[in-house]
Amino acid sequence: MLKYYLEEKSVRRFLKRYEAKRVAVQLPSGLRPKLPEILRVFEEMGVEPVIIGESCYGGCDLGDAEARRMGCDVLIHYGHADMGLKTCLPTLYVEARMPVDPADAIESALPQLDFKRVGLITTVQHISYLHDVAELLRMHGFEPFIGKPGRRAKYPGQLLGCDFGCARSVSSLVEGFLYFGTGEFHPLGAALATGKKVLAVNPVSSSSKRISPDIGDFLKRRKAVISRAAAGERFGIIVSTKSGQTRFNLATRLVKELKHAGRTASILVMNEVRPEELNDFEFDALVCTACPRIPFDDAGRFGCPVLTPPETKVMLGKSKFEPYEMDEFTEEDLS
Ligand code: SF4
Repeated sequence: MLKYYLEEKSVRRFLKRYEAKRVAVQLPSGLRPKLPEILRVFEEMGVEPVIIGESCYGGCDLGDAEARRMGCDVLIHYGHADMGLKTCLPTLYVEARMPVDPADAIESALPQLDFKRVGLITTVQHISYLHDVAELLRMHGFEPFIGKPGRRAKYPGQLLGCDFGCARSVSSLVEGFLYFGTGEFHPLGAALATGKKVLAVNPVSSSSKRISPDIGDFLKRRKAVISRAAAGERFGIIVSTKSGQTRFNLATRLVKELKHAGRTASILVMNEVRPEELNDFEFDALVCTACPRIPFDDAGRFGCPVLTPPETKVMLGKSKFEPYEMDEFTEEDLS
């Protein structure tokens, strides 16, 4: 089983500070097997836990309203960093960083790093190692750069699936990026958002992969999705009610633009974007203003093409397909 820092001391301090009698606990799926370990602390402190069983994919998705309805005094949200959302009750973020030193995996992958000026990027689970990795690169003659956090990230060098700002902030200074962490979406997004190559090193599996911005298959797939959507008449614009995903302003703008282009468009509001709920509406195409990962990660589960907002603009002839624009959250889109 993977190891995570569950910050027991901070949890105890937080519960004491708020004199909590009942605590809501929110966990992403990867941390759910850790529940017995997490519950032990509450038991020892005589605090009643209420576990939020809904899915939880990010710090954008807080269960504070549910927690308050259940009479909880506080919420402890595990697995993500604070992205500055307002909550209706005191909230502690336990980032659940992974104590997996990436040094060996990175050293083995260094022969593939064929550029000297290197932007360093990672996710919050591995962020503690950022400066050690920078030092390691310096020792091997590279020049590392760490970008400042984007709009939704908390730390320098931290990427989110909806915020590649830290990569873009150093993009003009570097020839490419070194990503260390798990998963392929973040390094792929960084390559597309910056137009630079990325060497992705997974410290858990000790594997590595080179990703270049002309990711042929990905772009071919997305072009095909846009063409299929372009043949459609009826569009559904998905808006999520998750507190950090609601882009109602963006959705209303898209409805106007689609109508102006002679299509019909309706806003569909839902919490969790579930294809099985949406397929019954029989829309010709959907546009997702909720989490930007949904059109990619869940593409095969929808009965029709699902576009990102930037892809919708391409379909309407308002922007070009290349360079491909990743969907990222901006202040003006949120409501
Ligand atoms: S919107 Fe999606 S990518 Fe952004 S933090 Fe939430 S779950 Fe992650």
